[in-house]
Amino acid sequence: MWLAERESPSFASRACSKLVLQIFFLWLGFVSALGHTAIPAIAPIFARRWQVQDSYSRRAARISLAPPEIEKSCKKLPQSPTDAAATLTSPSKMLLTQCPVCAAALPPLSAKQCSRCKTRYCGPACQEQHWNSGGHDNLCRRIKRAGGAEQYHANKKFAEAVAVAVERCADDTKGQTCYICTQALHWKTKEGLVRMCACRGTAGFAHLSCLAEQAKILVAEAEENNLDLKVLNARWNRWHTCSLCKQEYHGVVRCALGWACWKTYVGRQEGDEVLSLAMSLLGNGLTQAGHHEDALSVQGATLAMLRRLGASEYNLLTLQGNLAGTYEALRRHEEAIRVRKAVYYERLRICGREEEGTLRAANNYAWSLCHLRRFEEAKTLMRKWIPVARRVLGESSDLTLRMRWVYARALLDPAAMLDDLREAVTILEEIERTARRVLGGEHPLAMLIEGDFQKARAALAARDGDVSSVCEAMEAMTSA
Ligand SMILES: [Zn+2]
Ligand SMILES: [Zn+2]
Ligand SMILES: [Zn+2]
Ligand SMILES: [Zn+2]
Repeated sequence: MWLAERESPSFASRACSKLVLQIFFLWLGFVSALGHTAIPAIAPIFARRWQVQDSYSRRAARISLAPPEIEKSCKKLPQSPTDAAATLTSPSKMLLTQCPVCAAALPPLSAKQCSRCKTRYCGPACQEQHWNSGGHDNLCRRIKRAGGAEQYHANKKFAEAVAVAVERCADDTKGQTCYICTQALHWKTKEGLVRMCACRGTAGFAHLSCLAEQAKILVAEAEENNLDLKVLNARWNRWHTCSLCKQEYHGVVRCALGWACWKTYVGRQEGDEVLSLAMSLLGNGLTQAGHHEDALSVQGATLAMLRRLGASEYNLLTLQGNLAGTYEALRRHEEAIRVRKAVYYERLRICGREEEGTLRAANNYAWSLCHLRRFEEAKTLMRKWIPVARRVLGESSDLTLRMRWVYARALLDPAAMLDDLREAVTILEEIERTARRVLGGEHPLAMLIEGDFQKARAALAARDGDVSSVCEAMEAMTSA
């Protein structure tokens, strides 16, 4: 079972960039005086803005000022073979990292490519074969017209994802119209409607192309007019959050929006903040739809890019955390927990106790502990952090709900005492109501909580009967 708990990075604080630059020039003067030679290699770090959330910007700026610090903190986080391989083999911002003929991993940048459409191959033999018998002669012109291999791939994946999402939403959207263009069928693409947020009744039905177009226009306008960072971030959120109910899209709709976002910004230069945000968004979307292997390669490519560019520790942590979630989904629990633990302690060190990032990292770490059946440690961790979440984020927060749910799951350890079982049932009953109200009954988290509540209640009801039935009921539940 996978807990959908990803972070969406946002734009960097501009005030922070200015501060970084000022301090950087001071520092530059200082090290120049010392005759330091490493300046040209380090300078690009500060020429770019990175998506540090406002409240962390000062601390992140301080950390970014000392490049060895970045190295040091990155080394603290264990790298998995995939992670390391991605760093080595993934060229700039490319998702197409395999030869289209033999599926071999492509070497960085120098790979053989079609001069016209930029499709890359492992070598001349595969390129020739693709042209002669692989249908490339027909495709080449179309790929070039679309804007190159990466753009063509992104467009194609978006169209596929739209078809899947529309199909999945078909029952829900029957007889409805798009709240943006007011039509049932999209005027240009002829696609149907979707809805996967917390909107109810007749609200919130839309075409994915309309949602994407709206997000694209709003972000472009904010960029062109150099609008306030807060506005920029609010507009960027349109790529993953419904503007009507303010809840994040989930499942296949989130995945299609990820491809829409990626296809919109794939042409941006490496180092453009929007490019890395779009890549992260796609990675999160892929995991939402259960495409974990694809998510792994996208997240690996994003991480490699951010490392190359010397992104802040905070951003690396965000991405590492998301990557750990993918390991977990792929049942690579030992790798997942190593990263989760490191991210948790680093977040606590950088952000302090009351930041959402720290709470999320604590919750994710506890969830990994549950996967490895280390229920006692998970319970201790959650008892420490849930009161903070309730106070700082409130009862209706998505994260507070998740944390209480993870705690209830830890309580339902097969060796649980009757008191634990009772406590779990009480918590589940409470958060089930809140989740239904806030997220809607169709939300994956609301459905998981409801399922667990039913099972836990059944286990409690069986307590007077055969003892083994309690254990069996709980065993069935915790191993789900
Ligand atoms: Zn090949
Ligand atoms: Zn070509
Ligand atoms: Zn529409
Ligand atoms: Zn909505």
